[in-house]
Amino acid sequence: MAARETIALIAHDQKKDDMAEFARRHQQALSAYDLVATGTTGARIMDAVPGLPVTRLKSGPLGGDQQIGAMIAEGKVSMLIFFTDPLTAMPHDVDVKALTRLATVYDIPMALNRATAEMLIAPDEH
Ligand code: PGA
Repeated sequence: MAARETIALIAHDQKKDDMAEFARRHQQALSAYDLVATGTTGARIMDAVPGLPVTRLKSGPLGGDQQIGAMIAEGKVSMLIFFTDPLTAMPHDVDVKALTRLATVYDIPMALNRATAEMLIAPDEH
């Protein structure tokens, strides 16, 4: 049996409601993947979609973004869905940049907003 692919999910605070809604709406598509998420994002997704397993890493500002970056460098993540908030200053802005840089270096599909994430997860609906 082929190994399941992994999607990494992250949402900044102002985008967490959006991420919870996205996960609810696409529960079935997401359940075909192994899911990893930064700490708070993962908790919100599991609250929103009981029964959808998510491996939670550290919270983003405490190193979670870097953990996901390391997983990308190791070839363990095949898609990044990252709902970023461009209107709020982040203490871990450099980590956010490092993560999106690695996703570009390793050429994995990367959605930085909901519209792009919808096209990656549900291409037939668009
Ligand atoms: P969080 O981290 O899911 O733990 O809030 C996300 C982030 O801000 O990078």
